[in-house]
Amino acid sequence: METIQVRNPRSGQFDYRFTPPEPEALARRAQELRAAQRAWSARPVESRVAILQRWKDQLLAHRAAIIDAVTIDTGRHLLAQAEFGGTIATIDRWCAQAPGLVREDEGRSQALPSITYRSQLVPYALVGVISPWNFPLTLSLIDAIPALLAGCAVLVKPSEVTPRFVEPLRRSIEAVPELAAVLALMPGDGRTGAALVGLVDLVCFTGSVKTGRIVARSAAEHFIPAFLELGGKDPVIVTRTADLELATDVVLRASVLATGQACQSLERVYVDEAIYDRFVSRLVEKASAVPINYPDLHSGVVGPLIFDRQADVIAAQLDDAVRHGAKILCGGQVEIHGGGGRWVRPTVVVGVDHSMKLMTEETFGPVMPVMKFRTIDEAVELANDGVYGLSAAVVAGTLEEAEVIGRRLDAGGVSLNDGALTGVMHEAEKNSFKCSGLGGSRMGATGLTRFFRKKALLRQTGRPATLDMFDEANARRP
Ligand code: ADP
Repeated sequence: METIQVRNPRSGQFDYRFTPPEPEALARRAQELRAAQRAWSARPVESRVAILQRWKDQLLAHRAAIIDAVTIDTGRHLLAQAEFGGTIATIDRWCAQAPGLVREDEGRSQALPSITYRSQLVPYALVGVISPWNFPLTLSLIDAIPALLAGCAVLVKPSEVTPRFVEPLRRSIEAVPELAAVLALMPGDGRTGAALVGLVDLVCFTGSVKTGRIVARSAAEHFIPAFLELGGKDPVIVTRTADLELATDVVLRASVLATGQACQSLERVYVDEAIYDRFVSRLVEKASAVPINYPDLHSGVVGPLIFDRQADVIAAQLDDAVRHGAKILCGGQVEIHGGGGRWVRPTVVVGVDHSMKLMTEETFGPVMPVMKFRTIDEAVELANDGVYGLSAAVVAGTLEEAEVIGRRLDAGGVSLNDGALTGVMHEAEKNSFKCSGLGGSRMGATGLTRFFRKKALLRQTGRPATLDMFDEANARRP
């Protein structure tokens, strides 16, 4: 395979390169992982927990190198630290839960009490993970960790846009040989991703709807399950009873954090007409005061756009909106710094409607288009209008009022009196609605149990039925 040149998001320079695996090398690695998985799944879950805890110690030993690499990959430092801390927390959370979840149950038939059952948990041998560039460390491991604890081997294909973290992460894995036998990371582009789908028994994909569809089609051809975590166009509804300070704080943070490069970012803001003017002017005031993290990486809030083509998408959506009558009140420009890094400051747009791409397609930037509504019915209709259904938010005077509205929204996770809580809360199961995804929930207990099939061992403790019992002559006459 030819070498892939990787762009630095802060400078725009191509200052890193790597060579993706040849198809044969990928297939060979898949085979090795598959072979090692037998011994891995034969271990008691407590033993897998102990091995993952040893890996955690190694991650902590390689902490600085991993965070440094994620920082260069993403052009931001605090969130690189947060990704690292979150990964450690994910290991601990699943290690604590796994022994309770990897449990074979047994029972008895109610209708035929001589038949009892035992369930056997059979993990998928090899799980493939295809991950995106927006949270490269987090999203490479979020499904891999529960899959490993379930007894699977895992082959991860990180994004070609942000591959620098792979080397230091690999060193932490290699320090735990039992883990290195069943967990591999092989970065590459779409071709490596496409090849991976044909080599695994289940695929977890996080990325765009467009690529998600391709992966789902290929998974169907190979007859394997695909768990898809795709995009969103998350709405927030702000009612007239909402606290204005809280509402503007929530919308600003949940839209602008990570420069809007998170699937659960708020991307559409619907505000009651009674508070619309005050809301917009306060939001603009706050948004205009948010600094970018340039020139000093260690100060400022808004990082660069990681993927340069995303900057083009944002600019095109804003152009389209303005051409159709929208007005940008702050931000709105793609600024070039550091030679070729691209930044967009928090952007508030008004005069928008659903004929504009800005209100229907994923933006993945720090852009807050605000629309006013008259009634809650209208707000709910607007929020539910669109092809996505990842998550949503409601800010109201009370949680009760917010919940009544939240129950009407077509989305898998609805934050009440906050926004984007699905990014930090992992205990509650949630399924994506519409085009935002497919397959078992990544959150909650299913996040682990979806990685094994349950086999029923049906035990006849009495005499099996004989065929002559089914003679028509034995039918009861009416
Ligand atoms: P993004 O632009 O947000 O990275 P993509 O959905 O294009 O979104 O990419 C997500 C992941 O999917 C990346 O790791 C990418 O390399 C991978 N990918 C791209 N094309 C394919 C494909 N045809 N089959 C499998 N994986 C792919």
